[in-house]
Amino acid sequence: MFVKRGIAVSPGVVAGPAFVLGTEDFRIPRRLVKIDAVDSEIARFEVALKHVCEEIYENQQQAASQLGEQYAAIFSAHLQMVQDPKLTDEILTLIREKCFSPEFASSRVLRKYAKIFQNLGNNYLAERAADIFDLEKRLLKHLLGERREELMNLAAPVIVLAHNLTPSETSKLNKKFVLGFATEVGGHTSHTAILAGALELPAIVGVGEFLSDVSGGETVIVDGNQGEIIIDPDEETLDRYRHAEERQRHVTARLDSLLKLPTETKDHIPITLLGNIEFPDEAEHCTSRGADGVGLYRTEFLYLESDREPTEDDHFDAYCKVLKAFPTHPVVIRTLDLGADKIPTSINGGHWTASPNPELGLRSIRLTLKNLPLFKTQLRAILRASVHGDVRIMFPLVSTLLEIRQAKMILRDVIDDLEEAHQQFRRDVPLGMMVEVPAAALLAEEFAQEVDFFSIGTNDLIQYTLAVDRSDPAVADLYRSGDPSILRLIQQVVEVGQKHNVPVTVCGQMSSDTKFMPLLLGMGLRHFSVTPFSIPELKEVLRHTTREHAEAVAAHVMKFDTARDVESYLRGELKKICPDLFSS
Ligand code: PEP
Ligand code: MG
Repeated sequence: MFVKRGIAVSPGVVAGPAFVLGTEDFRIPRRLVKIDAVDSEIARFEVALKHVCEEIYENQQQAASQLGEQYAAIFSAHLQMVQDPKLTDEILTLIREKCFSPEFASSRVLRKYAKIFQNLGNNYLAERAADIFDLEKRLLKHLLGERREELMNLAAPVIVLAHNLTPSETSKLNKKFVLGFATEVGGHTSHTAILAGALELPAIVGVGEFLSDVSGGETVIVDGNQGEIIIDPDEETLDRYRHAEERQRHVTARLDSLLKLPTETKDHIPITLLGNIEFPDEAEHCTSRGADGVGLYRTEFLYLESDREPTEDDHFDAYCKVLKAFPTHPVVIRTLDLGADKIPTSINGGHWTASPNPELGLRSIRLTLKNLPLFKTQLRAILRASVHGDVRIMFPLVSTLLEIRQAKMILRDVIDDLEEAHQQFRRDVPLGMMVEVPAAALLAEEFAQEVDFFSIGTNDLIQYTLAVDRSDPAVADLYRSGDPSILRLIQQVVEVGQKHNVPVTVCGQMSSDTKFMPLLLGMGLRHFSVTPFSIPELKEVLRHTTREHAEAVAAHVMKFDTARDVESYLRGELKKICPDLFSS
């Protein structure tokens, strides 16, 4: 058994068989197997070998028919090599007699031969070493990892372990069979992390290299509360986690009892807790947690979960589905925030011009302003859906006034078109913008003249203010919501909102983190849009906090000059007001 730590991004604990997604480069640890597992390990090796032979044979046939026999001969040589009994016997002996894992034994034997070829002093033979490495890679792929397309065709429950999962891959995970996941890369608020929350799958990211230490089928525990992955746990550990699961069920039941109680502070100040969603189905996660509506609908996932570009009707149907769950509550539809790590395959056949720095490139509102048909299709659908509820439109990543003015102009064009076509829609749909670029926070006074509401996107605001890539684990320790620079920007936006009567919501992950709730309340915020599963806990914190206490917390926090001091103070305060959240 061994344990690796990563970044906890979606709570819950699961245990199950590993489904390892192959990486390009495998690093094989010297792993031993138990003596009574030798036979099953040999059987596993033989299955992998059989698959490798079949795969090479297919390549050989394909090369013969498309390129000619001389190219097919390359694969014939591979086949001969892999079927050479001397080679396979050597591997089997290491497994049988030294209890080496099949991965380690194969790698050891194949690399030994590759080295011999490399040292023969003959160029032609030295190049054959590459063929042996290729065989090693094929064998390891079958022993260690499944191919990505198999992820879409699961038939039994698994825990997915991967170097990386793109947001698009994550959005397509089959919840029926995927119990949870862990990735080597990724940061606190990467979109993959956010999606894990949306799918309510326990997950950790940014674990660092660990894939070569685990084999497909091996039992693993993903602890999304503590940010740990435990490979090959012993009985005692499994037992401990079973108890933790049991305790978690009790906490959930206790928090569920809050559902019928009003969302308000201890001194009865009403607070709005809205839900963040990525898929229409999640509207139900919001209603079951008692959300007051949807404060952020990330509509770009309509593009990411499908290989086909959505039509206006696809948009319309998705929005109506959400409005059906919330016919009288606000539903804030954010226009497409594509680009950066959210690249759909349905646009330009997935061929996007590579940006040297995608987070600063053509993404979000910048992208839609340059793709008017795409933008107008969505705006038409939102307006048409507006007759079914309290729809609000929000533009993402606005950084200049010209951008918001241009977006409003396009919206007016769409309104004219709909009027001409005698389509039904509401003319009074409120218009808001995300404040997630420092420039927008700094010019909040000016932006307040242009929009009906602000929503602070702390995920990007932190990334751009601190110059820390939100999905890069190498700098994850620098990505801090409690940094005084972030708090001052938030405070400035709140003050502008109060002055100009422009409602301000916080919709970044910071507002889903219980320890920040008293601080945000104390800064004057009353509206939050959060990951649905965090609603019960946040409600509990709110119901234990008074305005006076929250304001005292905020005043105290504003005196700190480091994120570390801010966050440790807030943790201490939360422990005082809500000890139950910690004892459970
Ligand atoms: C944010 O940046 O805080 C936000 C809510 O938007 P997203 O996470 O989708 O970038
Ligand atoms: Mg954002």
